Amino acid sequence: MGLPASPARHADLSIDVRDLSLVYPSSDGPVTALAHVDLQIRRGDFVSFIGPSGCGKTTLLRAIADLEQPTSGQLLVNGVTPRQARLRRDYGFVFQAPALYPWRTIARNVELPLEVFGMPRWERQQRSAHYLAQVNLAGFERKYPWQLSGGMQQRASIARALSFEPALLLMDEPFGALDEIVRDQLNEQLLQLWRSTGKTVVFVTHSISEAVFLSSRIVVMSPRPGRIIDVIDSDLPRERGFDVRETPQFIQLAQRVREGLRQASMLQ
Ligand code: ADP
Ligand code: MG
Repeated sequence: MGLPASPARHADLSIDVRDLSLVYPSSDGPVTALAHVDLQIRRGDFVSFIGPSGCGKTTLLRAIADLEQPTSGQLLVNGVTPRQARLRRDYGFVFQAPALYPWRTIARNVELPLEVFGMPRWERQQRSAHYLAQVNLAGFERKYPWQLSGGMQQRASIARALSFEPALLLMDEPFGALDEIVRDQLNEQLLQLWRSTGKTVVFVTHSISEAVFLSSRIVVMSPRPGRIIDVIDSDLPRERGFDVRETPQFIQLAQRVREGLRQASMLQ
């Protein structure tokens, strides 16, 4: 079920995972976080990983980002190894917590990866102003992280991930710690950003409605060891507002996700 009905051409794939397993060594013995995962993600898709806590969502995202090494199987990111993709700066990563440096202004936090790459100062400033405006933080460039709300801090970390213009954005429960009203706003902004930039987004969540609202494809995972139990292609229009949540299509998609999660938990 992990494979699309008609296999996508290699060149169209942003991420290609084949029979991937990942075992963590631990003092209590090996922990199998992922078992035989197959997944193909096309360029331009918005893909969510949804599954219960501890099922391996973060592990899969970190393996794509070259932050964890698979034990077996194959993984390609934009046609190259995760390490090559990392060195090419093919993706931006947004963590669960904003992880901004408190002694740097918002603009200088966004500019940090650009400084590391040796980009000239004028260009860095232009980039940070542009991407802060894209996440609706124009005017906050000179503030410090602690002067901003949690939602604004997370928007700044999205601007930082966008600043070096990666084709792929990896996001690990970026809005998990925020209240529902702020999360709704950020979900709408993120969708807009996805539509206007054509980026590929891989988004981890454990909220069914967030996954269905945002995604063009939803990947449902089983409890540990994480396996893919369903891949759902959404038939919702790309252009969608919150009213879509009241439609029969949305409700059906949410039911299919819920049912997949329920059955997988009973098989444990
Ligand atoms: P999720 O993001 O879905 O909540 P994770 O990918 O963080 O799940 O973790 C999957 C499983 O692997 C969990 O059981 C977790 O305890 C275990 N795990 C994660 N990181 C490590 C590690 N560094 N060492 C040992 N076990 C780990
Ligand atoms: Mg996680």
